[in-house]
Amino acid sequence: MEKVPNVPASDLYPPVQDEVSRLASSPGVRSAFERFRNDEAEFANWQLEATRIPAPPFGESPRSAWLAERFRDLGLTNVKVDEVGNVFGVRPGVAGPYVSLSAHIDTVFPSTTPLNIRQQGSRLYGPGVADNGAGIAAILAIASALNKTKVSHGMPFLFIGNVGEEGEGDLRGMRHVFSTPAWRDSIAYSVIIDGAGSDTVVAEALGSRRFEVIVRGPGGHSWSDFGAPNPIIVLGRAIEVFSQTPVPSSPKTTFNIGVIRGGTSVNSIPESASMRVDLRSTSTTEIDRLERALRLSLDQAATAENHVSAQRSSRKPHVHSQTVQTEVVEIGNRPAGELSRDARLFRVIRAVDTQLGNAAQVQRASTDANIPLSLGREAIAIGGGGSGGGAHTLQEWFDCNGRELGLKRILLTMLTLSGVGE
Ligand SMILES: [Zn+2]
Repeated sequence: MEKVPNVPASDLYPPVQDEVSRLASSPGVRSAFERFRNDEAEFANWQLEATRIPAPPFGESPRSAWLAERFRDLGLTNVKVDEVGNVFGVRPGVAGPYVSLSAHIDTVFPSTTPLNIRQQGSRLYGPGVADNGAGIAAILAIASALNKTKVSHGMPFLFIGNVGEEGEGDLRGMRHVFSTPAWRDSIAYSVIIDGAGSDTVVAEALGSRRFEVIVRGPGGHSWSDFGAPNPIIVLGRAIEVFSQTPVPSSPKTTFNIGVIRGGTSVNSIPESASMRVDLRSTSTTEIDRLERALRLSLDQAATAENHVSAQRSSRKPHVHSQTVQTEVVEIGNRPAGELSRDARLFRVIRAVDTQLGNAAQVQRASTDANIPLSLGREAIAIGGGGSGGGAHTLQEWFDCNGRELGLKRILLTMLTLSGVGE
């Protein structure tokens, strides 16, 4: 996370600030704000209901179906679920491309996780209740308030509940949205709701690339086959070289070897060994450079081990020279990107925060916003209001107090971006 100074947006962008304050005092917006105060019980109920439906990576379809029904109940049009499980609903505007409002519906929890979702006072408990129960509740709350107050807007709103944000999902839901020309070419702004809170704006997409590196060899007995190339030694050599690759502190760039596996017993030359490598940077160029360094270290290590092995077996004429093979499998790829400080979306969210007296920090993180940002599109990820903690654990919680502020923030951002309709 990188913090930037909190410059009051009003000093920088008076026209946007004026638009926001005019909107905030309009009768339609004020009645929508009233709904946020009065309908909290309904929002919490949606959040509990959604979170009670298991949604592990690649198993989100029951939750997709539930969300599509809610979209229809709230008067959204053209409600549909696409082939990967993303749910769409439209609130028509006067004209123009879409302002999209999305929340990921998947969780990190396998389908066997006991959910035990419950409420005690203003607090909701259970896995996934904030990440991203809070996001799902927020987009439903916005749709509901717009539906009840009949506030009109210039650009149409596209509501999306997308699959595959977490871990192994690797942003597949949002990736699919932006690889579908009909959506890609019609979404002007992406507002992404992820988790609880109102105190952050993710405007910088942290890129990452992940690999499973596999080395295979002939294997053998530690005594009688000595000299056969050893995959664990290849990994060891590769790690020794790769871990000395210099990385810049700006743009911040990191690498990690997080898992290593291989071998069967102490007196066997392993037939295979593997490791999992995570490369991260705010710059795609740096990730590319690290990937090249990783592949080069591995090639050199394999060549060195094959060479040693060939020398040893040439001294034993009855042994055929055998070699190791390497394979590098990409298991994750999240592209990097950044929202310009001059972008309209950035100016709008800063002006909205000033209007609401909300202090928010600009952050860098890996979210669904990576996909549009990497394509040079305007996108931010913000919280659904309230507060929360224990994300990705069974002790996850969400507190509904303060949800109202988060919802006002989202609505004002959407309406300022779209302009008010006739
Ligand atoms: Zn999330």
